[in-house]
Amino acid sequence: MDKDCIILHIPHSSLTIPEEALHQYDTSFFQEEFLLMTDRYTDELFGLPYSSIVFPYSRLFCDVERFRDDSQEEMSQKGMGVVYTKTHNNIEYRKVSAEEKEKILSSYYDAHHQKFEKLVDEKLKECGEALIIDCHSFNPYPLPHEIDQTPRPDICIGTDDFHTDKKLALHLKSYFEAKRYKVKLNSPFQGTIVPLKHYGKIKKASSVMIELNRKLYMNELGEKTENFQKLKDDISEIIETIKNKRYLEVREDPPQRFNKNWQKILKNLS
Ligand SMILES: [Zn+2]
Repeated sequence: MDKDCIILHIPHSSLTIPEEALHQYDTSFFQEEFLLMTDRYTDELFGLPYSSIVFPYSRLFCDVERFRDDSQEEMSQKGMGVVYTKTHNNIEYRKVSAEEKEKILSSYYDAHHQKFEKLVDEKLKECGEALIIDCHSFNPYPLPHEIDQTPRPDICIGTDDFHTDKKLALHLKSYFEAKRYKVKLNSPFQGTIVPLKHYGKIKKASSVMIELNRKLYMNELGEKTENFQKLKDDISEIIETIKNKRYLEVREDPPQRFNKNWQKILKNLS
């Protein structure tokens, strides 16, 4: 696969609320909500030389990863559908009129998805395929609104039965594990994004989600830790192997234990 087939989708890294929307909020909740809800620095961590779609506004303003229609979006029942009105712990801190909501959907949500859809179409045309990498991070411990409350790994790989190549998902899992990260598939978060136009229809529009545990790169104040660069380098190396489609290669290396025993035998012989 040519490197140009990769599309990085980064929806939750921004800390920006458009000025005209600030009046909708009780801003005293901002500090905590920004800290807990933002996939902070994911634009930097995944900021690699590939085509990317970064939503430039905070998910507290508009969450482009949610369904547009609240009736399809289970998180909307918790006040955290496409336009959030509640905090992570169920406190209403934002009021949005129907007119304002419609404007957010048409001017921001739709614009983002049109751009995304167009880029996927371009890649399909240029390369015959597109590989979307949906880039996120998560809180080290489950938040009250989150569905999966089980202990969290370092890395979560999200897959879709139709759009994710199983070999690719397993490659990511074993490559991160070889670097000593704890990895889970589809826990605490499931799935991966594909534009609705292609979803369930075009297999060549493939997609996989990579979610990073924030404890790997930032502290509880939202500051980068010293491990930041190492994590960024590991991500870069792993995405490079995806670009080169190394996950399609059959592994012929003998397992490590065999190597060690073999070395011992050679030593004894010599
Ligand atoms: Zn996210």
